[in-house]
Amino acid sequence: MFQAIDSPYLVPFDSSFRLTNAPADPGDADPGKKTCRKRRKAAIERLSELQDILYAHDHQPILLVFQAMDAAGKDGTIKAVMSGVNPTGCQVSSFKQPSAEELDHDFLWRTTRRLPERGRIGIFNRSYYEEVLVVRVHPEYLGGQNLPDEVPPGELWQQRFESINAHEEHLARNGTVILKFWLNVSREEQRLRFLSRLDEPEKNWKFSAGDVRERGHWDAYMQAYEEALRATSRPWAPWYAIPADDKPFMRMTVAELVVASLDRLDLQYPKVDETERARFDEMRALLESGEA
Ligand code: ATP
Ligand code: MG
Repeated sequence: MFQAIDSPYLVPFDSSFRLTNAPADPGDADPGKKTCRKRRKAAIERLSELQDILYAHDHQPILLVFQAMDAAGKDGTIKAVMSGVNPTGCQVSSFKQPSAEELDHDFLWRTTRRLPERGRIGIFNRSYYEEVLVVRVHPEYLGGQNLPDEVPPGELWQQRFESINAHEEHLARNGTVILKFWLNVSREEQRLRFLSRLDEPEKNWKFSAGDVRERGHWDAYMQAYEEALRATSRPWAPWYAIPADDKPFMRMTVAELVVASLDRLDLQYPKVDETERARFDEMRALLESGEA
C-alpha cells in the first residue's frame, strides 16, 4: 500500500493534530514568489512525465482530494497543478449541494461513482468530507438525508469517520494512491479575497452573499476541520494542511507533494517480454519489406 511522504504539512496519524500547529501563512518557509513559480513549473513538468508512465502502467488510480473554506484557492490550485497534464488521464469532479437522487443513497455513493480509473488522476473538488464538515456545521441538513432512526446523534460523526477510514483503506488496498489537501486560509485573508471579488469587475462573478454568511460559522468550521483531519489522516491516505494565504507557495507545495508521492511509486513503462520482442521483429520485417 502507498505510504505518505513526509512534509512539515503532513497531518500526523496519531490524533495529535491541532489547528494551532497548522499555519495559514508559510512564514520563513516561503522562498519567494519567483522561486515558487520556478519550482512549481519544474514539478509540473515532472508530473507530466509521471502521468504518462502511470497511464501506460495502468494499475494505480491517483485520487487527490481538495477541501477548503471559500476563496482559499481550490480552483486555482487544481488548475495550476494539473496544467500541462494530458487531459485524457485526468478527471476533475466538483461536489456541491447533493441532488435528490444523491440524498437517496448513502453518503459515499456519489463520490464512489466518480473515483478515478486505474492509471488516471482523479481530482475531487470537495468530497465526502463535506459530510463531516458543512453538514456538521449545519446539522439541519441531516433532516434531508433520510437516515436510519437507530443512529444516536452523538455517534453519527464518529461513525462517519469510521466509514471514511474504512472506505479509504479499501481503496488503498486496491491500488489507489490517496492524497488529501486542506488549503488552510486565514479568516483575515478570506475577508480580503471576498473584498477583492467585490472590487474587481472580473472577479465579481465569484462573489456570493452565501459565502459571507458561511464565514459567520468560521469557528464551527475550524473545529470540524480539526476533528476531521485528526480522525482521518492515515499513512495510506494522508492529509496535508497547506498554508493557503500565499498562493504561489500553496501551488508549489501541492505540486511538489503530488510529484514526490508519484515518484515514490517508482512506476515503470510496461516491459516487453521475449515472445513479444520476437513478434516485434517479425512485424518490423513485414513493415520494412512493404508486405504489410
Ligand atoms: P466555487 O464557489 O469556487 O464555484 P464551491 O465548491 O464553493 O466552488 P459552490 O456552488 O459555491 O461551489 O458551493 C458548493 C456548496 O455545496 C458548498 O458550500 C459546500 O459546502 C456545499 N456542499 C458540498 N457537499 C455538500 C453536502 N454533502 N451536503 C451539503 N452541502 C454540501
Ligand atoms: Mg463557493
